[in-house]
Amino acid sequence: MVNPLEIKVERNKHKKTKPPQDQLGFGVHFTDHMFVMDYAQEKGWYHPRIVPYQPIVLDPAAKVFHYGQTIFEGLKAYRTGDGRTLLFRPQKNIERMNRSNERLSVPQLDEALFLSALQQLIAADQDWIPSGAGTSLYIRPFVIATQPALGVSPSEHYQFIIIMSPVGAYYPEGINPVKIFVEAEYVRAVIGGVGEAKTAGNYAAGLKAQEAAKELGYSQVLWLDGVHRTYIEEVGSMNVFFKINGTVLTPALNGSILDGITRSSMIQLLKHLDIPIEERMISIEELYEAGRNGTLEEAFGTGTAAVISPIGELSWKGEKLVIQDGQTGELSKKLYDTLTGIQKGSLADPFGWMVEV
Ligand code: PMP
Repeated sequence: MVNPLEIKVERNKHKKTKPPQDQLGFGVHFTDHMFVMDYAQEKGWYHPRIVPYQPIVLDPAAKVFHYGQTIFEGLKAYRTGDGRTLLFRPQKNIERMNRSNERLSVPQLDEALFLSALQQLIAADQDWIPSGAGTSLYIRPFVIATQPALGVSPSEHYQFIIIMSPVGAYYPEGINPVKIFVEAEYVRAVIGGVGEAKTAGNYAAGLKAQEAAKELGYSQVLWLDGVHRTYIEEVGSMNVFFKINGTVLTPALNGSILDGITRSSMIQLLKHLDIPIEERMISIEELYEAGRNGTLEEAFGTGTAAVISPIGELSWKGEKLVIQDGQTGELSKKLYDTLTGIQKGSLADPFGWMVEV
């Protein structure tokens, strides 16, 4: 096992020009440094290092290009009003990455080293963390199978890399509901497949439906289960919640749904607020029935990028359902303000979620 203290740091001699804080966008600008570590079957993980951000050179036969043996994660660091740097539940991402690794036959990463790599990389690029309202530093750890060999078998070589990108406010004009197309033809994942893993193929497989929905004027799709096309799974690349008759519902984790960290935080927060929350199977018919009889009060997606994305309208097999008159519901707003307040350090953190860097 590699000692976290062994992370070598090679500083970037030519610092890049930073983009203006109001033109950050999402994942388009990258910081001065990156973390890299190699794996060879005979050695395990070795040579952890922080180096200047740079292209990587891979053999065209590297397995990642052919068989998609790759895992990624996404988490954020925040700059607080008093200048501290906080990470939101990094341990959860580390654990999820290792669960994804396990599913894709990628060797496990040492958790202490991973956390130390995050902390040292963030420290090296401290001055890249934006401080404006709604801004953060998005962190993207990923593993790729690098062995140049076309046989279908787990790679014997990997690289683990962490890159970071300052990102702008998701809602520069205030939290805003989106229109969602209920996808009745394509599916994202099936039980027994890799839906629960954060692996590239899940996202590539979702693009076609996403593009078709965009053409029809919807921002994302609501995914139904892969067997019956009946039970609700996720919305775009977010988990999904509904408030029906005072109770909040979210699909139970079943193996094809990603175990979102915002999702689990939201469940904890709802319990803390004494708001009834149920994790169970929810059929699209049940949801539409609640919409038709006026008991569907709010709907929203949850994920690292947006935190909460309220749903103002659904369309399923030609039937439209407008939720909350297309406006942001009271609960969505309260949950958004609470979680973003905890993340930015402006509200107390009763759950011990934030980790200071
Ligand atoms: N579902 C999918 C498919 C995702 O890619 C994500 C983003 N990681 C989520 C849900 C939300 O997860 P989290 O709250 O951990 O960002």
